[in-house]
Amino acid sequence: MCELLVGLPDVNVLAVDDVAGQPLEIRIETRTPRPCCEDCGVLATVKDRPHVVLVDLPAFGRPTRLCWRKFRWRCPNRVCGAGSWTEHAPTIGWPRLAMTDRAGRWVTAQVGRSGRTINEVAVELGTDWHTINDTVHAFGAPLIDDPNRIGQVHSLGLDETLFFRRGRWKRQRWATSIVDVGDGHLLDMVPGRNAAGPCAWLARRGQDWLDGIEYAALDLSGPYRKVFDTMVPDAVQVADPFHVQKLANQKLDEVRRRVQNQTCGHRGRKDDPLYRCRRLLTKADERLDDAGRTKLLGLLEAGDPHGEVRTAWHANYPALGGGVKGVSDRFVSFRGVGGGVGGCRGHGRVGRLRRASHVGRRRFVGLRCR
Ligand SMILES: [Zn+2]
Repeated sequence: MCELLVGLPDVNVLAVDDVAGQPLEIRIETRTPRPCCEDCGVLATVKDRPHVVLVDLPAFGRPTRLCWRKFRWRCPNRVCGAGSWTEHAPTIGWPRLAMTDRAGRWVTAQVGRSGRTINEVAVELGTDWHTINDTVHAFGAPLIDDPNRIGQVHSLGLDETLFFRRGRWKRQRWATSIVDVGDGHLLDMVPGRNAAGPCAWLARRGQDWLDGIEYAALDLSGPYRKVFDTMVPDAVQVADPFHVQKLANQKLDEVRRRVQNQTCGHRGRKDDPLYRCRRLLTKADERLDDAGRTKLLGLLEAGDPHGEVRTAWHANYPALGGGVKGVSDRFVSFRGVGGGVGGCRGHGRVGRLRRASHVGRRRFVGLRCR
């Protein structure tokens, strides 16, 4: 009955120790026949019975330890040089790991798939951080190294992640996340946020795999654009509307500050019309109520004699075109942006908002102020 509850094959349960305030301890031994020496074939004799304590899955809501009373065998043949050896049972636990096999698989899934922190899992199992970390490394490394882990990807995304801060001055260490945007899976992470790491990672995938990428999602940063230009030049580059909008707002602000300097001869002060309307300019026309719209138009009338800021404001929001078929609606292609701004290009005063380049299937928009 006890063996059924413990759930391990071919073991005898020797005892269950229940000490208040301590993890539940289950003592077991394997139920295997006496082995023969591999060198001479003589039946082995028991040399020692060492105890190995392994962290196991929680039982009945309590942290549990599996106390495995192992067999250490020796060859009785005096002319044989086999010496002694200790039994192995991978179904119970692997050598040099402090957890049982089933607990190791469970913590790896908790950390890797469910996204729980190592410390959180360590508290639940009543053990320390290093035990969980070592186990996740041991069980997770073969999964990461599996060549079939990454299938064909049609929409690839790159994004920077602040990995940790290091040293006395808390220097930032960045990493680049490589993501299958279509399925929302994190494929891998490489150190740094420059082009070298992602380029090397993509180069290892092979040309056939690269040819299957139709869309490349990025955050408008130069290094990631270089990665896609170099490695997948035929993929349509797309960006999250947040990044496009952030860039558009930044350029609109530059137009506002330039006009402010040209008309008033100084930086914005609290009573200057263009300074007062800086927050209203970050809203699209449809998000303004009547009072806000009247105020914004009045301030622009007073501070923007040639209508440059107003035109830039109008060019800002149409810049966000539709999504790309096959890619999440959260993304917008550069081509959509190009259509929005390109429509304003003919306007003499909007010459400062211009399309920077147009290469093959890709169009990059530089909402650039000169
Ligand atoms: Zn022997």
